[in-house]
Amino acid sequence: MKTVTVNIVTPDGPVYDAEVTMVIAKTTSGEMGVLAGHIPMVAPLTIGAVKLRKADGQTEVAAISGGFIEVRPDKISILAPSAEIASSIDLARAKAALARAEQRVQKKQDNVDFKRANLALQRAINRIKVHEGNI
Ligand code: ATP
Repeated sequence: MKTVTVNIVTPDGPVYDAEVTMVIAKTTSGEMGVLAGHIPMVAPLTIGAVKLRKADGQTEVAAISGGFIEVRPDKISILAPSAEIASSIDLARAKAALARAEQRVQKKQDNVDFKRANLALQRAINRIKVHEGNI
């Protein structure tokens, strides 16, 4: 099966660079699978998991906190505010972030704080799910 290079880049630097046969990502209009040779496109991503299927049949998973996927026939770039490969997720940190965010969501002080807390909540839940392989 043909392969395509995938880069995941965040403001902190590159997180992933490998050859894969397929990328499955959650865009704002739904989940999409991209194979090598796909026509060029750009789509916004939601907080979610990105699955990276390798030629040997293994699948790596990354937790992505939004951003964009840019597809070209020979290269797929994911630009995200933050991204972690499952094995590099600190579960205790994500659980602590989840507890903090839950408290802030419950307080519902003002709309801005609520939205921010809700996004932090989603990021934490996503990291926990990806770390546990529960995706
Ligand atoms: P926290 O409150 O724990 O910082 P957050 O959702 O606010 O969580 P982000 O702003 O999304 O964190 O990310 C800041 C940096 O910390 C990024 O480089 C991100 O990859 C990293 N990061 C955040 N949470 C984790 C985690 N649980 N495990 C590993 N890296 C993490």
